[in-house]
Amino acid sequence: MQENPNIKFRIDPKPQTASAGNSEEEHKEKRHTFLTNFSVTPLELEAYLNQYVIGQEQAVSILATKIATHYNRMKMEMLHPDLKPIVGNIKPNIILIGPTGVGKTYIIKLIADYINVPFVKGDATKFSETGYVGGDVEDLVRDLVYQAGGDIHAAERGIIYIDEIDKIASAQNVIGLDVSRSGVQRNLLKIMEETEVDMKVPHDIASQMEAVMEIQRTGKAERKKVNTRNILFVVSGAFSGLEDIVRKRVRGSSIGFGALTEEQIQLEQNWQNLISAQDLIKYGFETEFVGRLPVHVKLRPLNEEDFYKILRSPTSAVILGKKRDFLAYNIQLSFTDGALRKIAQLAVKEGTGARGILSVVEKILLPFEKHLPHRVSEFTVTQQVVENPETELKNMLAQLDINDYTRKIMLDHSIFFKLPPESVERLIEVANMQNQTVKQWLETNLKNYPYGLRLLGVSEFVITPDIIENPQDYLDKKIKESYARQNRNRDMNHENN
Ligand code: ADP
Repeated sequence: MQENPNIKFRIDPKPQTASAGNSEEEHKEKRHTFLTNFSVTPLELEAYLNQYVIGQEQAVSILATKIATHYNRMKMEMLHPDLKPIVGNIKPNIILIGPTGVGKTYIIKLIADYINVPFVKGDATKFSETGYVGGDVEDLVRDLVYQAGGDIHAAERGIIYIDEIDKIASAQNVIGLDVSRSGVQRNLLKIMEETEVDMKVPHDIASQMEAVMEIQRTGKAERKKVNTRNILFVVSGAFSGLEDIVRKRVRGSSIGFGALTEEQIQLEQNWQNLISAQDLIKYGFETEFVGRLPVHVKLRPLNEEDFYKILRSPTSAVILGKKRDFLAYNIQLSFTDGALRKIAQLAVKEGTGARGILSVVEKILLPFEKHLPHRVSEFTVTQQVVENPETELKNMLAQLDINDYTRKIMLDHSIFFKLPPESVERLIEVANMQNQTVKQWLETNLKNYPYGLRLLGVSEFVITPDIIENPQDYLDKKIKESYARQNRNRDMNHENN
């Protein structure tokens, strides 16, 4: 294994292998050795994130700081085992609050990649209190080991991201305790604090069988457990309805006592920055659960200008991804500025945050991705392409057909066919009406032209819109005219002689 000089700290030179129900061989294949970059400073991490993330400066700043400190501190404690543990210490687990597609997962994933720790994402709604119906929250920890290629030490320093956490807040209209949701909260609380998660799942037959086989093979049962003390938990959600709770609290006793003070108005407009643990408890979370999530980060909704910036960014995953898709067919793809502006505008209408960018781009480019391979080596997406992809594709394919056709005529008959724009336009219409491609139309309707034109001694020929209206008549007429002219010339020559 090669050492990377940029990696400042390495956790475990000999990673342990864990079995999550898969064979040792599979694990070997999947195993990455997690080399870690725990010495990152908050500013370095922030600068890295700023290359990718648009419009979330406040969130990026807090996350870069808290997560850099978490890993630096972990490193220090590992290097100094003599440091006494702090009783009641709480990790900087994080709550991300914001609508869909604004960068919540993206930022955390970027951080995990940069620090080089394993990352898993789960959905809070998938878990049930007992773990039998849905998944078990401990599965997340086992997934982390799997992500780490079986390296338990790396997994113990990874990041677990749980989305839709607001869906496990107790329903506010339920009288008494909302047992199942607060049950999931309590299960999560356990792994968020510190617990040992067994790699062998008690109700999983495959894992049990593997354990038996291992005993047969090695003669002993090795208990593989993952300690969750250092795993960082990030939970996220849109938290609809939280705004009302915050506003009510901020307004406080002034309700019904006349106008709000200037300060309260200001506070209200900035409600997201005022979310407190109290509000989250009111929203339906257990006090202990909120207590384990001390870092609250708000992400703002993104607007059209943000989308445009995301698209223009040299790190834009959508644009880079699409360029690569086309490059797979040797096509150099590019976008004009007008096209990017228009995509941003359409993405807003999707209402799914920055995810809308990908769906818009996919929708527009899919037919081009289907028809252009091996026909062009370059394709520029213009504003017109974005506004009217069908027509633009039709025009492009028509032009390609024309080029192919005229090239072939040149090679086979040494005649140069020219089609001015008005002819191309009419040709597309006529071919369309007759349910033919432009190529089919040209090959069928101009079949006799090369021969006819050769008879006429023509080496360059402009196909006018008239010809497209009535190709055969036009050629017949031309040939007749030519013969008539020849006859006339002959007669005149006769007379003169
Ligand atoms: P969510 O907030 O729902 O977790 P994601 O972070 O998964 O949304 O965002 C989906 C995708 O949209 C990301 O993979 C990224 O490509 C893009 N994206 C989202 N927010 C931003 C942002 N603020 N800056 C740049 N790209 C973003």
